[in-house]
Amino acid sequence: MIDLHTHSTFSDGSLTPTQLVLEARTAGIEYLALTDHDTGKGLDEFIAACKENGIYPVPGVEFSVFEDPVTRQQMHILGLFLDHHHPDLTSFEALMKTKRRERAFQIIDHLESDGYRFSNEQKEQLTRLNTISRAHLAKMMIQNNYIHSVDEAFDRFFGVGKPYFLPKPQFSPEYIIGLIHNLGGLAMLAHPVYLNCNSYSELKSIIQDLKRSGLDGVEVYYPKTPKSMIHQLLTWCDELDLLISGGSDFHGKDIRPEIALGKGTGHLYIPNILIDQMQKRLHQNK
Ligand code: AMP
Ligand code: MN
Ligand code: MN
Ligand code: MN
Repeated sequence: MIDLHTHSTFSDGSLTPTQLVLEARTAGIEYLALTDHDTGKGLDEFIAACKENGIYPVPGVEFSVFEDPVTRQQMHILGLFLDHHHPDLTSFEALMKTKRRERAFQIIDHLESDGYRFSNEQKEQLTRLNTISRAHLAKMMIQNNYIHSVDEAFDRFFGVGKPYFLPKPQFSPEYIIGLIHNLGGLAMLAHPVYLNCNSYSELKSIIQDLKRSGLDGVEVYYPKTPKSMIHQLLTWCDELDLLISGGSDFHGKDIRPEIALGKGTGHLYIPNILIDQMQKRLHQNK
């Protein structure tokens, strides 16, 4: 069993990289990628834990590309098999750490000016995080009894286009794909279902544009992706010579706790052979 999309406490996951690997071993995972948001800082611990537990580690990062408040489209691209010590990643991580922190405190200022309150301890806890996401702000709002769920925070407060929404730095897909290639990795379009396309022809034309920008593959197997879309994506990957990837987007108990490693909500099945195809492509690229 394989899972090529997971998160740890280095972004908005609930488990440390070591705890994630132990859970993966129990779940019977053979190949595992850690793909924290905009950071590879958890990857040294992750790789060491994988080696100790007989799991094949795939070093990854889930890059935020853009979020458009008008179309409500959000694009994430996964970099897999990348060199997480590369200086280009180090500078990207530093930029995103600062910008994410600034954004979080701007959102908090806005909420406080409307009467919501957060303790100094909560704010200090935020500054200790490696990658601050809106999911952390959602947890604070739940703690303070302003809302009941993380989804409610996004639906009512800071989801794309909602009153307290603020964007992260925006990048072109070309830039992020180029960065991933500089790191020696493969660039995979994450969860195409979240692109919120109105039709399959719109989705196909986005994927064709990305392919022209150097995209290597698409995350076809994903818990929220309907069967009919999976079928379409498989056809397009074949037609456009794109690799096929798959992952659960496991975050642990705080975000979408119903998602299990490797299995998603139970129906996810990611064939092991996808790893061989990726390794073949990496070998050709050398
Ligand atoms: P950010 O990294 O600040 O853009 O925050 C978005 C993160 O919150 C994503 O990585 C998701 O894992 C998580 N999340 C949880 N619930 C939602 C939701 N309803 N909509 C968008 N993101 C969500
Ligand atoms: Mn997340
Ligand atoms: Mn994502
Ligand atoms: Mn993710």
